Amino acid sequence: MEHETEFTLLIVDDEKQNRLLLTELFQSEYKIIQAKNGQQALERARSHLPDLILLDVLMPEMDGMAVIRELKRDDDTRHIPVIFITALDTTADEEWGLNLGAVDYIVKPFHPSIARVRVRNHLHLVHQRRLLEQIAALDGLTGIPNRRRFDEALKQEWSRCQRNDQPLSLIIGDVDFFKTYNDTLGHAAGDRVLQEVASELRQCARRPGDLAARYGGEEFVLLLPGTSQEEGKLVAEKFRQRMLARNLPHPASPGLQRRVLRHPQSGRHHHHPQKQRSHPRLLSAGRRRLVPGEIPGAQPDLLA
Ligand SMILES: [Mg+2]
Repeated sequence: MEHETEFTLLIVDDEKQNRLLLTELFQSEYKIIQAKNGQQALERARSHLPDLILLDVLMPEMDGMAVIRELKRDDDTRHIPVIFITALDTTADEEWGLNLGAVDYIVKPFHPSIARVRVRNHLHLVHQRRLLEQIAALDGLTGIPNRRRFDEALKQEWSRCQRNDQPLSLIIGDVDFFKTYNDTLGHAAGDRVLQEVASELRQCARRPGDLAARYGGEEFVLLLPGTSQEEGKLVAEKFRQRMLARNLPHPASPGLQRRVLRHPQSGRHHHHPQKQRSHPRLLSAGRRRLVPGEIPGAQPDLLA
């Protein structure tokens, strides 16, 4: 598999000899991180987020069972597969380990080639799961992130901005009179419009952490962490200009010559997580503002 060298293994064992043995076995294929006790294992798992953990069970102070319990309790590390490597060889031990959430259980002394194949198989599953997650996070029509991905990102970025005392801006927009557009020109034409909007919106999400997503139907969102209200307005205006430049006619629009994206008129879309309410209400605040603006004859503007 070509992707093997991209993977990182965390090897946890209190005995130096075992750590060396495992490192030697896997270092040609993967990046290796070592930990010599439970506490160090947790620290390194959290800071490096390895792709797989090989975890010794019998260790002084904090044993492997305690380590895996902690890993499974933490949202950041619970998805990391853990393989126990241990001298405990009874069926009860193995069952206990697997019940705690380990994906596999290798008994010492093990045959190197078998350990290698087992690790490879589990990493192959990791790779496949990530591919599926990527697909599940994208909107099928437009290819930009979907609502599910946006909800996750909003939660993460909200917390991050809160920790770092940074502002967060959110632009919410929808295509005006989209139903009449579909009714007049057909759904294939409507789909193309959504793709064009998505493509322009994606161009506006330029920095790491920015996220353009299709929220649902003809609704789109642009999440801009660490972005002030003024900067957010500039991005919204840039996006509006880009859409105007596309000059897409809407033959059935009541009072509008162009189809436009509108977003909340007030500064509601700008928030300071440190000082304001929790994030789930952010979007509902924005959405309430969205509806009154959708009146026939309104200015074809993306209001900032
Ligand atoms: Mg040990």
